[in-house]
Amino acid sequence: MGSILVVTEIQNGEIREASYELASIAQGIASGSGREVKSLVAGSGVGSLAEAFASKGGGTVLVADDDALANYNVDGFNAAIRAAVDEADADLVLISNTPSGWDVAPRVAAGLDAGFVGDCFRVEVEDGSFSFHRRIFNGKLDAKINAAPGKIVATIQPGAVAPFEGSTEGSTQPLSVDFPDARVQFKEIKTSESTGVDLSKADIIVSGGRGVGAPEKFPETIQPLADALGGAMGASRPVVDAGWLPHPYQVGSSGQVVQPKLYIAAGISGAIQHLVGMKASNFIIAINKDPDAPIFEVADVGVVADLFDIVPALTNAVSEAKG
Ligand SMILES: Cc1cc2nc3c(=O)[nH]c(=O)nc-3n(C[C@H](O)[C@H](O)[C@H](O)COP(=O)(O)OP(=O)(O)OC[C@H]3O[C@@H](n4cnc5c(N)ncnc54)[C@H](O)[C@@H]3O)c2cc1C
Repeated sequence: MGSILVVTEIQNGEIREASYELASIAQGIASGSGREVKSLVAGSGVGSLAEAFASKGGGTVLVADDDALANYNVDGFNAAIRAAVDEADADLVLISNTPSGWDVAPRVAAGLDAGFVGDCFRVEVEDGSFSFHRRIFNGKLDAKINAAPGKIVATIQPGAVAPFEGSTEGSTQPLSVDFPDARVQFKEIKTSESTGVDLSKADIIVSGGRGVGAPEKFPETIQPLADALGGAMGASRPVVDAGWLPHPYQVGSSGQVVQPKLYIAAGISGAIQHLVGMKASNFIIAINKDPDAPIFEVADVGVVADLFDIVPALTNAVSEAKG
């Protein structure tokens, strides 16, 4: 029987929380599938990170420590993951569904001639075999994909499960990697300019989605309610992708994960990638014209209405109440 390989990711000198979520999934399905958990920590000077991960759900951690892995590059990380899969005799490889995960995971699968399932939020074991759940049709349906025998590479949505908590007995083991001639070279990381927006610290967030319809509607409709409540404005990803607001406003798996006291979602359908970023909020109000919108499944109060009727009325009511 093979193993389950967790591929970790390092960001700003730390193993990302998403990697601990992979450890949580791997530990949860290891015994049911009769497999061991193994992990890969790849980078430069990563010995202590690997040891920490081994004691927090990583199992046997293979350590690829090389200057060639100091920064993400697809050729180097593809080679390291392939070496780890061989060393671990892995038949399930878990990679986070992050920008580098999207880049490397399909290449790993193609190189191994393995099956590939992307963007999953749950992995189960039935009779020793794996099945994977992913949302389709903009979060309206869940698809369950049963793995055929053989190796499988799966990417997992960050935030889909809680990170591994507690401590485990693990160990580390050096991994040697044959690096191919690099066809891609790391040059620099450019961070976006600060907008002064930090949603992670806001107690109240009023977010607008594609349903808001146009960029000028955000300062006209969404921001006034956020201001009246003393909160911050947020947005869904299509709003940011369209350039209506910059990225620091984005709530969700590829934006900010927030947990305010009050979250108001206006014109947001409630796709899983948005929900994972806000469903832990203390109180959620959703305003949507579509009574079947998935956002209502996590809402404490759901308003089936046009946001352009409700949001300005709420703003007025709050302003009047404050005198
Ligand atoms: C890898 C990956 C990462 C992603 N990361 C994120 C992320 O971080 N954050 C994120 O948000 N998304 C993310 N997405 C995108 C996500 O899948 C959805 O496409 C997105 O959340 C949908 O945004 P939305 O709800 O604003 O738009 P839509 O799904 O188009 O929904 C618009 C909603 O507005 C409603 N509406 C329209 N007009 C009105 C009106 N006048 N009044 C009231 N309601 C109205 C409609 O009924 C509809 O429900 C990601 C996707 C992928 C694949």
